Amino acid sequence: MITLTGKKVSEGIAIGKLSFYKRDSKEIRRIYVKDVEKEVQRFQKARQKGIQELKTLCDTAAKEVGEANAAIFEMQQMILEDQDFVDQITNIIVEQKLNAEYAIQSAAENFISVAMAGDKNYVQGHDADIKDVANRILRILARAWKDKMLTDEPFVLATGELYPSEAVQLDKTKVLGFVTRYGTINSHTAVLARTKGIPSVIGLGEALKKDYEGKTILVDGFEGKVYIEPDYTTITKMKQKQDANHTQVQNLERLKGKENITQSGQKIDVCANIGSREDIENVLRCDAGGIGLFRSEFLYMENGMKLPTEEQQFQAYKLAAESMGAKKVVIRTADLGGDKTAECLDLGEDSNPAIGYRGIRVSMDKEDIFKTQLRAILRASAFGNISIMFPMITSIEEVTWAKDMLQKAKKELKNEKTAYDEEIPVGVMIETPAAVMISGELAREVDFFSIGTNDLSQFTLGMDRQNAKIDRFYNPHHPALLKMIRIITNNVHLEGKHISVCGDMAADLELTEYLIQLGIDELSVAPNQVLGLRKKIREIQ
Ligand code: PEP
Ligand code: MG
Repeated sequence: MITLTGKKVSEGIAIGKLSFYKRDSKEIRRIYVKDVEKEVQRFQKARQKGIQELKTLCDTAAKEVGEANAAIFEMQQMILEDQDFVDQITNIIVEQKLNAEYAIQSAAENFISVAMAGDKNYVQGHDADIKDVANRILRILARAWKDKMLTDEPFVLATGELYPSEAVQLDKTKVLGFVTRYGTINSHTAVLARTKGIPSVIGLGEALKKDYEGKTILVDGFEGKVYIEPDYTTITKMKQKQDANHTQVQNLERLKGKENITQSGQKIDVCANIGSREDIENVLRCDAGGIGLFRSEFLYMENGMKLPTEEQQFQAYKLAAESMGAKKVVIRTADLGGDKTAECLDLGEDSNPAIGYRGIRVSMDKEDIFKTQLRAILRASAFGNISIMFPMITSIEEVTWAKDMLQKAKKELKNEKTAYDEEIPVGVMIETPAAVMISGELAREVDFFSIGTNDLSQFTLGMDRQNAKIDRFYNPHHPALLKMIRIITNNVHLEGKHISVCGDMAADLELTEYLIQLGIDELSVAPNQVLGLRKKIREIQ
């Protein structure tokens, strides 16, 4: 048994076979493999599949564009059946102990030079077809991993770093837990893991080796530990821990339907944060007072190359509104950018992504996309108690612009005789020190506020929430941060407006009493943290 220690991100125990994440990356990496026979089989399986695909393509093309044009796919098949080509790939795998992807790419480059030298007449001048064939096999190899998510047993995912755009697309019914070499507990991947309740440990470093592929792994998300091929005693201990946690969770169930009230009678709302429609069920199960933050950008991040349409978004928001009944649902307009990239939106490269092109700034540049989202939210507002919130605000101008856009969207819907809530509450996120300093002025512009302590911490402390190297300097209880929260709360309450905390600080039980004393109206946390927070509130004097 091997024990690895990392950082705990999301509580829970997971046990299963470990599978390294395979990216659909254009960049092919040179990776040493131990089991070369298995790697050759992987290649051969993909090659056979490629030949089959080309046969089908050839038949369809013959019917649609004629035999002569279909011959191109016949030639591509011949490349895959060319013994020299196949031998070259196999030799690289076996002799150099390298991965199939790298072997295919090198062999294809070599094959192109051979063809150019005139040694292979049938492919002479067909460099693009050789590349196409190689790409087909590379795609099949990458797809094989995705197919695994559809067909195989559930597994524990391992990777160097898991990006939020990838985490959001994982099949949650197959991924029992995940472990990574790098990453920070404040990243959006970590936020996602907590929201979904997927046990995970990150920052295991190079100790998380490729050789562990296929081995049994036990993830202890309570302690931030990982066990490779755990022994009987460890498994038993973890089962006991899991049972104890189960009992604790069951005890918390008794708090369902109860108030979030301190011993001295002070009440506070407890809501839940979500990122997708799949999370709504968890919100209902945990008896949250509403959805305090719907991170709508995840709808963009899970939609592949296509932007989510107005209809698609409308359906997701409507489901949230209808499921919650009279309880409120705060939909934050897309906070894309930073580490939240989406294939469907090219945001370009930023040298400083956290303080770069993100949040409302992207919306102000891409008005059409923003208006589509506003229309979807407004349409859904006819089906429940929806509020709308703007992210990464730094100025009054941004808010007045966003409110103008909302007016335009309302006008369009009115002209189309489409129903929406004319009085939909509008709020802003307080995530930047600038927003803190103008919170008094902002309070005259909007109906409610939510403090995003994850971003507010990184901007106040000047510490990138993504940078693991500065983890030890990152103090989530820094007095400057606590003072900021006091300033915002006072300013907002002076205008008689509502204030919540929806960043991770809301779930920090060491600060619950402080936040209640300040007079925060609402705390919004991951669904499975709701009842634990209720328990804490009810214990406070
Ligand atoms: C925050 O910054 O605290 C917040 C809730 O927004 P996100 O974590 O999605 O950036
Ligand atoms: Mg934020």
